[in-house]
Amino acid sequence: MKKMGELALIERIRRQGVRAGISSHGLRSLVLGVGDDCAILRPPKGHEVLVTTDFSLEGRHFRRDWHPAESVGHRALARGLSDLAAMGAKPLAVFLSLALPAEMLATREGRRWVDGFFRGLRSLAGEHQVPLAGGDTAESPDGLVLADIVLMGSAPAGRALRRSGAKVGDVLYVTGELGGSAAELAAMRRKGIPTHRDKAARNGALGRVARPQLFPQPRVEVGMALLRRRLATACIDLSDGLSTDLRHLCEESGVGAEVIASALPLHTLALEAGATRALDFSLHGGEDYELLFAAPVSVRMPRTVVGVRITRIGTVTPGASISMLGEDGRRRPLRPGGWEHFAAKRP
Ligand SMILES: [Mg+2]
Repeated sequence: MKKMGELALIERIRRQGVRAGISSHGLRSLVLGVGDDCAILRPPKGHEVLVTTDFSLEGRHFRRDWHPAESVGHRALARGLSDLAAMGAKPLAVFLSLALPAEMLATREGRRWVDGFFRGLRSLAGEHQVPLAGGDTAESPDGLVLADIVLMGSAPAGRALRRSGAKVGDVLYVTGELGGSAAELAAMRRKGIPTHRDKAARNGALGRVARPQLFPQPRVEVGMALLRRRLATACIDLSDGLSTDLRHLCEESGVGAEVIASALPLHTLALEAGATRALDFSLHGGEDYELLFAAPVSVRMPRTVVGVRITRIGTVTPGASISMLGEDGRRRPLRPGGWEHFAAKRP
């Protein structure tokens, strides 16, 4: 293993300063990071530790010819951060296991890709003040980039937001806009994916808001605010699509739901594809990484939480059925059509 430059890679990762841009406040829970056999974390007093893991596999979760390296690094971290957001947790530390094809470390272009990956990851980590506290590297056997992210977070004991707390009569809300990620992916496909020459995509910073597929923004601050302000009875992040994730929330809570189609906040990119496709993207597209949550009718929900728009989209109903009230006034079952990751459908 060492012969293909594992140590060199670790050194390269260290040199890039994965803790750079993380304030002493962000490092407070990290007693010991990269360099020893284990990291040591000290969660804030009275808090519980939350852990989530996510694979980012080339060909399944991203394509190197579609997603620029910065986007791959960003998305790998965003998925884990979104899971913490769904439970109202504060991120403590991230761990990354990365398998790279041997040829990647042997060529300048390959090394540039690795640098780009870390640039994307580090920039999002800096935004959320979460240090990279350890990980592992290995040579990938099939010429594919494989990343596994572990995120640790903390929440006040007994207060983490769960999927299981929704009650009949609760109101359903979502953050931000829906369907943008799938719409951007569809546009990328149609245009033949010029992302590698797309400076805005490569630099990230410029185009973030308009790049929900390449640079999704996990709602960490919103999740923490929902917990702190006791605004939600149940919460889940929208990774697979509203139709699928709503079902997860309902199953865990033992309730049904009715969604009002005309209430869904559709992303501008989705709307550009026409009303029907926009609705489809928002219901089944996935990878929006917004939050779906329930709250009692008695809660006066603000229009925005930490600057992010909150939209009422339906109600929690008795039973187990999940339906949608269409713009034509007809009620239909809302079947889960969330995606099983775009690569499965690739041409
Ligand atoms: Mg999730």
